[in-house]
Amino acid sequence: MNKTIIKMLSGIFLKLVKIPSPSGKEKRVAEFISAFLHQRGFDILVDQSGKKNASNTGNVIATLSGKGEKLLFAAHMDTVQLEDEIVKPTFDGVTFKSDGSSILGADNKASVAVLLTIAAVVSLEKKGRHDLRFVFTTREESGLMGSEFLDIKKLNPSMIFNVDGSSSIGTIDYSSLGHLSFLIEIEGKAAHAAIEPESGIHALTVATKLYTSLKMGKNKDGSTFNIGYIRGGENTNVIMPNLVMKGEIRAYTESTLKKMWSGVENLSSQVEKETGSKIKLKKGKLIPPFTGSKKSKIVALTKKSIVSNNIKFNLQAAPYTSDSSYLAQAAIPTITICKGGKHAHTNKESITLKEMYSLFKIIHHLCYHNNQ
Ligand SMILES: [Zn+2]
Repeated sequence: MNKTIIKMLSGIFLKLVKIPSPSGKEKRVAEFISAFLHQRGFDILVDQSGKKNASNTGNVIATLSGKGEKLLFAAHMDTVQLEDEIVKPTFDGVTFKSDGSSILGADNKASVAVLLTIAAVVSLEKKGRHDLRFVFTTREESGLMGSEFLDIKKLNPSMIFNVDGSSSIGTIDYSSLGHLSFLIEIEGKAAHAAIEPESGIHALTVATKLYTSLKMGKNKDGSTFNIGYIRGGENTNVIMPNLVMKGEIRAYTESTLKKMWSGVENLSSQVEKETGSKIKLKKGKLIPPFTGSKKSKIVALTKKSIVSNNIKFNLQAAPYTSDSSYLAQAAIPTITICKGGKHAHTNKESITLKEMYSLFKIIHHLCYHNNQ
């Protein structure tokens, strides 16, 4: 491993994780990124969308002109850390971790650190570099809001590389899951639990009927269904009158998402009739699946960058949802490059310096592909 690159990678990464950036509060880290890239000759623009619900999109868009193709590399700036949580990173020369009291934030600051290191290196190398656009998105973890409101067509890249994804280094995602959240409100009927329980409609009985008929977990096609939240009732002497459940559906095609949702609708009206209850369904935002092709040019190109660096190549349909869902909406070739790391979104999260260095080599190779 090149000593200068390693020093830069770890130095930038440690600085980044110490700057809090929970979803929606990315401003400080955005300022750090903007200043860093501005000093390296990038043009900086902080994205503001006029669209409804886009409040302060805040994506950082940095461009550095080159020759050849317009390559866009994206990484989200936010983490799942709590509002007042300060990350105290540790590094033993091999692995980065937190002190155990918080997440580390390698998801996705490892990718941000790699892109900033790339920027520092390529800004000094004038020959043969492609035209670069680095986009740092906001609010990925809270529903991909930054990428949703990004005007990709205006940036007009020829290819999009989303640097994220927690699978091992060398893995690229050609597709990933779409997402539909929902809320179910059950209205039963209150009654005294001892005097006349038979005249009540127990909301939990209704919920149980619904729950046991819906297939939880993973299906053969990789789609999933889950109810992850349930609240109901107040007093032990009352037949539970109300109950709320929240859940999500994920699938690789929009038609599967819609089909699974209409299954919930049909079953609910059936259970309503059977129990005499009222079931209100509220559909949340539908995040479209990312549907790329296994055999695209962008897959072949990235594979070349991975293999030529002696890294094991792996191609997958990702079992998660990422910014690629929206980045790919303009029908420009898109893939997700995975960053490695372990136990993302937990206090045990870790990443090795070697993983970051490998990611650096893959992306650096892409910045010059076919131009040398
Ligand atoms: Zn992420």
